[in-house]
Amino acid sequence: MNNKIFYCEGCKDDVSTYVEDREEIFNVRGEDITINSKVRVCDNHHHDIYDEALDSKNIERAFEKFRWENDYLKPMEIKEAREKYGLSQRGFASLLGVGSASIARYETGAVPTNSHHTLLKNVRDNHEFVKDLYENNADKLKRLDKRRMEERLDYEDAQSIMEETIQLYLKKTQIESNPIYNGYIEFNFDKLMNLIIYFSKNIGKLSKTKLMKLLFYTDFRNFKETGLSVTGLSYKKLPFGPVPNHHFLMLDSLMEKDAIDIMPFDSYDGEYIVPLIEFDMTWFDEDEMNIIHSVVKDFKYTNAQIISDHSHEEEGYKQTEMNDLISYEYAEILK
Ligand SMILES: [Zn+2]
Repeated sequence: MNNKIFYCEGCKDDVSTYVEDREEIFNVRGEDITINSKVRVCDNHHHDIYDEALDSKNIERAFEKFRWENDYLKPMEIKEAREKYGLSQRGFASLLGVGSASIARYETGAVPTNSHHTLLKNVRDNHEFVKDLYENNADKLKRLDKRRMEERLDYEDAQSIMEETIQLYLKKTQIESNPIYNGYIEFNFDKLMNLIIYFSKNIGKLSKTKLMKLLFYTDFRNFKETGLSVTGLSYKKLPFGPVPNHHFLMLDSLMEKDAIDIMPFDSYDGEYIVPLIEFDMTWFDEDEMNIIHSVVKDFKYTNAQIISDHSHEEEGYKQTEMNDLISYEYAEILK
């Protein structure tokens, strides 16, 4: 799928192309970030060809690496910090004393300025800091934002953090955020949920063991093609193959969300996934859908044992110590 026809400026013609891995340095907030870029090249003379989709993914990877190295909040964390207090983007901006356009950009992937970064980190980590901000800036908030925020502040005070399964799962997946173990993508719970819904709707009585392998192949194949995983999951080497990290919590969270149910096979030999919600394809881009289709096509009629044996042959699995995370760098040599 990467050998697409493109117009080559060098050849002045439509030519067949391929994608090459190349070390590239991006400047993010004054810092040089080196990543392994995917660059489209013409078959004839190896001219570089501009491919907007690949290029934006390269930039995304550079941003993700920068955020990780500098402990920056991820776009999703910024959104969560805002929603925790029931605020609109405008309301959140007024609370922090920054422009609302900045908040909108940060939530869609732009890297915050240094001072905004410090501010956002305090909001995420320090409930008292948020209360002080509210004391000082309440008059700048619209009535609805004000009412919601007051409710949330009361709620947060009363709550003293009761861990629910999903919260616990999100927290645990965020701890392991070294991009080489999550495929340079921030973990996305909704995307994971929809991917599992898709598999369980398209493969009858999808067993838990088989699901784990399908996720692994989806993420690693997509990384091989684009340099990014689909879900942002990390995978661990366990005796029965590569498995998403915290996979028990993962399934428990989906059940808590009423997205899936888990039923025993008639033979009582393992369990399978029952989808309870509709699949929402808007979470996936075209490249990702192609990969997902290829995984279903290749493994639909293959039983879990054979996929499991296949995954044991992968270099990423063989080279990793038991119970350790598997680096996405091994995706390059996926079988
Ligand atoms: Zn050319």
